[in-house]
Amino acid sequence: MNQQRYLLLTPGPLTTSPTVKAAMLVDSCTWDDDYNLGVVQAIRQQLVSLATTARDDYTAVLLQGSGSYAVEAVLGTVLAPQDKLLIISNGAYGARMAEMAGRMGIAHTLYDCGEVSRPAVEAAEQYLLADPAISHIAIVHCETTTGMLNPIREIAELAQRYRKGYIVDAMSSFGAIPLDVAELHIDYLISSANKCIQGVPGFAFVIARRAALAGCAGRSRSLSLDLYDQWRCMEDNHGKWRFTSPTHTVLAFAQALRELADEGGIASRHQRYCHNQQQLVAGMRQLGFTPLLEADQHSPIITAFRAPQHPQWRFAEFYQRLKARGFVIYPGKVSQSDCFRIGNIGEVYPADIAALLSAIKQSMYWLA
Ligand SMILES: *Cc1c(COP(=O)(O)O)cnc(C)c1O
Repeated sequence: MNQQRYLLLTPGPLTTSPTVKAAMLVDSCTWDDDYNLGVVQAIRQQLVSLATTARDDYTAVLLQGSGSYAVEAVLGTVLAPQDKLLIISNGAYGARMAEMAGRMGIAHTLYDCGEVSRPAVEAAEQYLLADPAISHIAIVHCETTTGMLNPIREIAELAQRYRKGYIVDAMSSFGAIPLDVAELHIDYLISSANKCIQGVPGFAFVIARRAALAGCAGRSRSLSLDLYDQWRCMEDNHGKWRFTSPTHTVLAFAQALRELADEGGIASRHQRYCHNQQQLVAGMRQLGFTPLLEADQHSPIITAFRAPQHPQWRFAEFYQRLKARGFVIYPGKVSQSDCFRIGNIGEVYPADIAALLSAIKQSMYWLA
């Protein structure tokens, strides 16, 4: 292998364990029971178990592609022609949902509260009161743009009170932040293989309320992204994917689920990520960096830091110096402030954060 190895401190793909990578060294047959019954069906059941104790009411559907494919599949399959979507947004991923709805001709309203503030439940309620045509609410749980944790519990209460369908993009939080989809009345929760479950990229998944998804036949604006058809195929054929399945990625994911269980489940992983994030922020503050968000707005997933106010500062230069020391960080995505991001998720431990902090100290060339 001629590629340099480094630790990914990014929000997915992220650093995976050697055993997750090794699980891919097997070729699977996509119509054989070993794969479909043995691996795919087991994954679907485990995902539902991770998402809720009301296991009979929910199902898991796996879908080829990255996380955005599953978001688009949900919006395109769930919203009927007369339906309307309220998108609550404070970052790039909320904005992407609006763009998808626009492309598919789905009626929608955007409540955009800006990238550095938390959506207000009262404001969201005003949208519902003003427009009775709204049938569904969609929100991002952890907005990876900034690392902001959004109030999905409060919005759930609103969705329940006004009897709206509830869609949550939990892409960057599922597997790392304990929640129960039934308790939160979530109809569709979306995540992907290469985020907090710590698998490799290649497919996404939706935890869907069976009763809701069952009513979505024939609605999809797309053939490949028809979540209902994908579900029926998996249900009726014991885990068979409609089209070629990402077999190696699926084997890696099965291993990643085992490792999540070995770690002690979502609660333990949550603690590890929280520890990573706190250690990172404390160390960065000592080096003179300031996080973009207030601590109480923050998720343990990814942290945005303000760029140093120094004429010599260049993100690209800083990035290259860190990469040369074995660490890859992420550029900023916030439109109105100059910042960069460091992921706290993946196969990353306190010793890695400590090593990163010393590499950062050595890479602060603008102070030299
Ligand atoms: C990663 C992510 C997505 C999906 O992005 P892809 O590049 O399509 O995998 C969607 N929403 C959020 C909040 C994410 O973090």
